[in-house]
Formats: sequence, C-alpha cells, structure tokens
Amino acid sequence: MSIVVVGSVAYDTVETTRGKVTEALGGSASYFAVGARFFTPVSIVAVVGSDFKPQDQQLLADRGIDLRALERQEGKTFRWHGRYHEDMNKRDTLALEMNVFDGFAPNLLPDQRRCDYLFLANIAPVLQEKVLSQVMSPKLVAGDTMNHWIEATREDLIKLLPRVDILTVNDEEARLLAGENNLVKAGRAILAMGPRSLLIKRGEYGVIQFSKDGMFAVPAYPLEEVIDPTGAGDTFAGGMMGFLARHGRITESSLRTAVVYGSVMASFVVERFSLERLFDLTWEEIDTRYRAFINLIDSHHSRWTTQ
Ligand code: AMP
Repeated sequence: MSIVVVGSVAYDTVETTRGKVTEALGGSASYFAVGARFFTPVSIVAVVGSDFKPQDQQLLADRGIDLRALERQEGKTFRWHGRYHEDMNKRDTLALEMNVFDGFAPNLLPDQRRCDYLFLANIAPVLQEKVLSQVMSPKLVAGDTMNHWIEATREDLIKLLPRVDILTVNDEEARLLAGENNLVKAGRAILAMGPRSLLIKRGEYGVIQFSKDGMFAVPAYPLEEVIDPTGAGDTFAGGMMGFLARHGRITESSLRTAVVYGSVMASFVVERFSLERLFDLTWEEIDTRYRAFINLIDSHHSRWTTQ
C-alpha cells in the first residue's frame, strides 16, 4: 500500500560537534520518504524553488519516490539552519526560511486522493490540513509537528489533532504542546486533544507510545557514534509508517513492530550527515540491525516468571 506524505523538501545547513554541511538535501518529507521507501511506495506532496538542483530531484527519483506532486515554483527552496549542542538531543534553529512554501496550494492527483496511508510530516498545519481534506477515506493518518508550529500556529494545529490517528512529537514538543513538564501527564493531555495514539520521540532515550489502552516504550539502538541527528524523527516515522502500510493491519502488536522498525531506520540516518547514510543503505543491513534490536530488547522475562 502506498503512502502520501506532505512536508518540507529543503536545503539544510547543519552544524554538529562532528562537522558541518551547507545546503544539503533535507526536509521532513525527504527523510520520511527515503526511509519509508524501503518498505512501500511513497509519493511526496511539496514545493521546491527554481534553485532546486536536478541531481537532488534525481536522487529521490532513483529511490523510486513518486514526485508527480512535487511542484517547482519560481523562487527559493525552503531552507533550515540548525546547530546541535554537545548533547545532541538539543539543537537551536539559527534560521528558517519558508520561501516557496509561503502561498503553496497543494493539489493531489486523483490516485493520491484515494490513498490509504497519509503522513503529515512537519510543515505548517494549514498545509497539512489542505492535504488531509483532499484525501477521501484514509485508513491511517499520522502526523508530526515542531516547536515552531506549536508556538506560531497553535490554533491550526489543535484543530487538526482529532483527525490524526498517530501523532509523533519529541519530548520538548510534547511538553510545549501540553503545557506540562511531566512526560506521562503531557502524553495524557495530548491524547485528550484528539489523536488516537501518541509517540513521543526521546532522541537517544528511545520512544514512548501512549494510547487509551496504556503505554509502551522502546529504547534507541545504542550507537558508538552519532554524526548528525537531523531527520531522525522523520526517518523514524518513515520506517514506522512504511512497515504499517506494508503489513496492512493496524493492531497494538503491529504498532510495536512498526516502532522497532522506525527506531532501526532512525539509527542509520544519524550515522552520516544529511540523507547520505540512507542513500547507500541496503535491506540486508536493515534486517541485520532489526534482529540485533530485537535481541537487545528481549529480556526473556517469561523464562523466569513461569510457575
Ligand atoms: P527532524 O530532525 O526529524 O526534526 O527533521 C529535520 C528536518 O526538518 C530538516 O531537514 C529541516 O529541513 C526540516 N525542518 C526544520 N524546521 C522545519 C519547519 N518549521 N517546517 C518544516 N520542516 C522543517
């Protein structure tokens, strides 16, 4: 089953303690799509400027990503500049230029309007809404957002939440959205805003899922070296949703497996700058790390609790 994603396609300037890249291909929709494409077909709904390099478009096309709804407009592509702290769970946004996204009116193709799986990647909630309204009867809608939108367009975001099945946010965004410092209370408060399920991404500490039935947590895959955490959240979402779309059934159990696949995909993207690691990743590497991950989290608890 294919996924439609709306989000940013960007040129990112990123500084970490391990180096710097200038105007590298990025954006929430790009990371999501490249991650999800390992599992299922994906189409991107977004806009780029006249400066968007044909070789960057080719990189996405070469992965088999459907770019029919990637519009090109006169002007500059979206740009983001971020700097990570020594503690890579923390970063500052130094510059954010919406450029051609200002005034963008997404228009889905007839087959995209009939999609079953929709991901509203991090972009203005009004654009997320414009895409959501065009999709006829999606089986699963997941969405992401960011501090910037929680602060600048809170009302638009709140209106959208009851129409989202799975919301993914990081811990800082969860606290900001809920106005609550304790993560469990924040999780409960966000569920009360409408999403059926909430995934709070906690960087190197992993992910906690909240639903009305309870909570579950998965650690991050431990890595010796992180080069650039940019896009980890979007790539996580790509792996998670890609697995669900491929599997076809959404149950508590498939959601847990999906969260593990999401975590596996996120663990790769941070190993290099930009999308570099995802571009040379193979399915065999994903499979090997998935097995290592399962081994890591399996406590063999049942062996000790029988009788
Ligand atoms: P992540 O590290 O998963 O939060 O995603 C980082 C990506 O999101 C970068 O490639 C940025 O281009 C993109 N990004 C950053 N800020 C925004 C924003 N306000 N709206 C849309 N995309 C953004």
